Amino acid sequence: MPAEPIVPFHTYLWKIASRCNLNCTYCYVYNRGDSRWRRQPKFMTDEVAYQTATRMREHCEAHEKESASIIFHGGEPLLGGLDHLMRLAGIIAEVFADSETKLTVGMQSNGLLFTPEIGDFMRRAGISVGVSIDGPPEVNDRNRVDHAGRGSSNELERRLRLLTEEPYREVFDGFLCVIDPTTDPVRTTDYLLGFDPPGIDFLLPLDNHDRRPPGKEDDLDAAPYGDWLVRAFDRWIETGTQTRVRIFNSIIGLLCGRASLVESLGLEAIDLVVVETNGEIEAVDSLKAVFEGASELGYNVFDHPFDLVARHAGVKARQLGVDSLAQACRECPVVDLCGGGYLPHRYSAERGFDNPSVYSSDLKRLITHIAETIQRELAAVPA
Ligand code: SF4
Repeated sequence: MPAEPIVPFHTYLWKIASRCNLNCTYCYVYNRGDSRWRRQPKFMTDEVAYQTATRMREHCEAHEKESASIIFHGGEPLLGGLDHLMRLAGIIAEVFADSETKLTVGMQSNGLLFTPEIGDFMRRAGISVGVSIDGPPEVNDRNRVDHAGRGSSNELERRLRLLTEEPYREVFDGFLCVIDPTTDPVRTTDYLLGFDPPGIDFLLPLDNHDRRPPGKEDDLDAAPYGDWLVRAFDRWIETGTQTRVRIFNSIIGLLCGRASLVESLGLEAIDLVVVETNGEIEAVDSLKAVFEGASELGYNVFDHPFDLVARHAGVKARQLGVDSLAQACRECPVVDLCGGGYLPHRYSAERGFDNPSVYSSDLKRLITHIAETIQRELAAVPA
C-alpha cells in the first residue's frame, strides 16, 4: 500500500537552551502547565544539533523542499554564548553544504545578551534575530522580569540601541509583543515603531477556557483584546509605516485569498515542528501552556525521521482544516480567516481542543474591523 501523503515540515524550532535569564510571569515554558524543562539539558549539544540537521536534510530532500527555516529558540538562545552559537551554526552549514534546499536561520531572543561580537558573527553567518518586548518600560516591566522580579527594560533599551543601529541593523528581524489589554495600544504601537522594526508580532496570551485570559474571566463575549488590536491597527494604518504587523498583514492577505503569515490564523496546514535540547521532537511548542506533556509526541531525532513525525495523529490534527474545528467554528462566518484560532487557546479539560478559541469574540472583532476598513478604503478609490 502506498504511504499516506504528508505535509512536509518547513519551520524547525530548535530549542538550543532550556533555561532563561528572565522569568516572565506569563512564560509558557516555565510558568504554565508544563515543568518538563527541569529534566532537559541546559543546552543543545553538538551531537543533537548534528543529528537534527541530518534528519532535516533527509526530510527536505525526500520532499524536494526548495527552502526551509530554522529558528533558534529557548529558554534564552543566547545563554550559551557566542561559542555555542558558532558551533551550532557551523554544524548546520556543514550538514547543508551543497544541499538544494535554501536554508534561513533566525532566532527569537529576549535581547539582553546581545553583544557586538554576537552581532558580528550573526552578520557573517546571515542569522537574524527577533526580540521579545511588550512595549514601553512601564508596560514591559509588568511581566518581563528577572528571577528577582526586577524589570528588564533599562538593559533591553541599551541592547536595542546597539541592535537597531548600524552595522547590526541588518540582522534585526523585529519584535514579538504579548498584549496586555489594560495598556494603551497607541502608546505601545508608537513605541515599537520608534525602533523602525521590519516586523511586529502581536500575540494573545497563552490562556484557554480553563484558565481564562485577564479581562475575560467573567465574560467570554467581552473583546478587550479585539478592542486593543483594533486601536493598534488604526494607529498602524494612520502612521503609513512600512513595518509589517503579522496579524494585520495576515488578515488582509487572507481577505485577498492569500496564505496567512501566522500559525494562529487561517486554515492552512501547520508545518512547524520543535526539537528540544535533548533531541526530543515535539508538536507546537506553546501547547506546553495547556497541560504537562501536551506537546509531547514520543519521538526523538536519534530514533525517528521527520517523515514519521509528520504522520503522527497529533501533527496531522493541525492540518485537517475546517473539519477539525468545533461546531461553532464550522458555522462561523469568518472561519476561513480565523481558522478557529490558535490551538492552545481552544483547550478545556472537558472538551479537549473541540472549542472555539477563548479569544473568539476578539478575533471576530478584529477581523470584522479590518474587513470593513479595507472595503471602505477600496470604495474610496476612484473607478
Ligand atoms: S471567530 Fe470564533 S467561532 Fe469563528 S472561527 Fe474563530 S474561533 Fe471559531
